[in-house]
Amino acid sequence: MTDAIDATHDPKLRSWVTSANQKDTDFPIQNLPFGVFRSRGSAEPGRIGVAIGDRILDLSRCYGAGLLQELPEQLQTACLAPNLNSLMAMGRGAGSLLRRYLSQLLRIDRQPPVPETEILVPMSGAELLLPARIGDYTDFYASIFHATNVGKLFRPDNPLLPNYKYVPIAYHGRASSIVPSGTSIQRPQGQKKKPEDSIPDFGPSQMLDYELEVGFFVGVGNELGHPISIERSEEHIFGLCLVNDWSARDIQAWEYQPLGPFLSKSFATTISPWVVTLEALAPFRCPAFCRPQTDPQPLPYLFSVQNAGFGGIDIILEVWIRSAQMRQANMQPFCLSRGSFQQMYWTLAQMLVHHASNGCNLRTGDLIATGTVSGAEEGSQGCLLEITQRGLQPVKLPTGELRSFLADGDEVILRGYCEKAGYARVGFGECRGIILPKSEGL
Ligand code: CA
Repeated sequence: MTDAIDATHDPKLRSWVTSANQKDTDFPIQNLPFGVFRSRGSAEPGRIGVAIGDRILDLSRCYGAGLLQELPEQLQTACLAPNLNSLMAMGRGAGSLLRRYLSQLLRIDRQPPVPETEILVPMSGAELLLPARIGDYTDFYASIFHATNVGKLFRPDNPLLPNYKYVPIAYHGRASSIVPSGTSIQRPQGQKKKPEDSIPDFGPSQMLDYELEVGFFVGVGNELGHPISIERSEEHIFGLCLVNDWSARDIQAWEYQPLGPFLSKSFATTISPWVVTLEALAPFRCPAFCRPQTDPQPLPYLFSVQNAGFGGIDIILEVWIRSAQMRQANMQPFCLSRGSFQQMYWTLAQMLVHHASNGCNLRTGDLIATGTVSGAEEGSQGCLLEITQRGLQPVKLPTGELRSFLADGDEVILRGYCEKAGYARVGFGECRGIILPKSEGL
């Protein structure tokens, strides 16, 4: 299945929401990502909205104004839910129909017969919530450059383990601590042991890191015992977001053998609030990673000509940092890395197919993340562990401050966007989090 490039991607389309027509917006009429929001400062239940320029199209109010009447009833009801799960469960066809419908509704020549303020909410006045009820969260390890760089730090003579080029490696994460962008992150405490110490101590992590990742939401799930074929895989992917898999490297180093990461990761994971659909990303599809001749080809269940040709997505990904001192001095965030999602060793489809290959059932709203996105080039490493060589080569911020790992008060901002000649820029918005000192207790 490949998403067609159609009238919704026409770069000439303009919206009556004027901010959506600015060249550098993440949310032009060609994007239309889904999210869940409520008025800032209120305790009201979440409502589904669509990002358009610096506004949110409120689907509940669109319904109230009679603007969704031409849609199938079930789809109208899904638009009134407090999260995207019902819409996700209806399958790609329903999401695609809604996207086409909203593209028409927002066109400059189709101004609706109600005042803008009745159906549009300024994004600045909204609190963006988690877009879905996330039952399960799995985190892969799909960048061979990240796996090699990290491997080198721990096993200089044997950086890449022998299974890497055959198995899309992952661990099961913790869904309960996934938070939307803007949520503050408390520095975790845990057990850690320095090589020179004979026993571990317990205390605040001194090696707190971020991981730049992309995630996708499962739309329609699969029944227990029924794997998903690579040919049908993208029918199960509703859309994508940015993921920051906060990681405590000192806790991780002490706990990760033999069963993998646990408390070093489960204290918090931040996601960007807007779910960018595969339909919106259609113009930016690209070949899967080009494996060198010396690498094995994927096993047959992980291979299709379609996936090899179009399984990749060319997303530019950036990490920015702003320390407390930078904020006080009113300085702009500082760019730590910039790379492309195109260089991932495994595609989203391969991760999904592998996940379900043993019969494991994936469910609507599950979040599957790719693992740290690092590229081959200098400056494209997606975490501080790699950038600073485990703290040995600290980064110098514009204030002169040095960072081996994150300090209290540091804000980390992930950004992602797609750009291609002949198409409108499509962005993900931001995935932000600020580090707070460790909590009281213990
Ligand atoms: Ca990760």
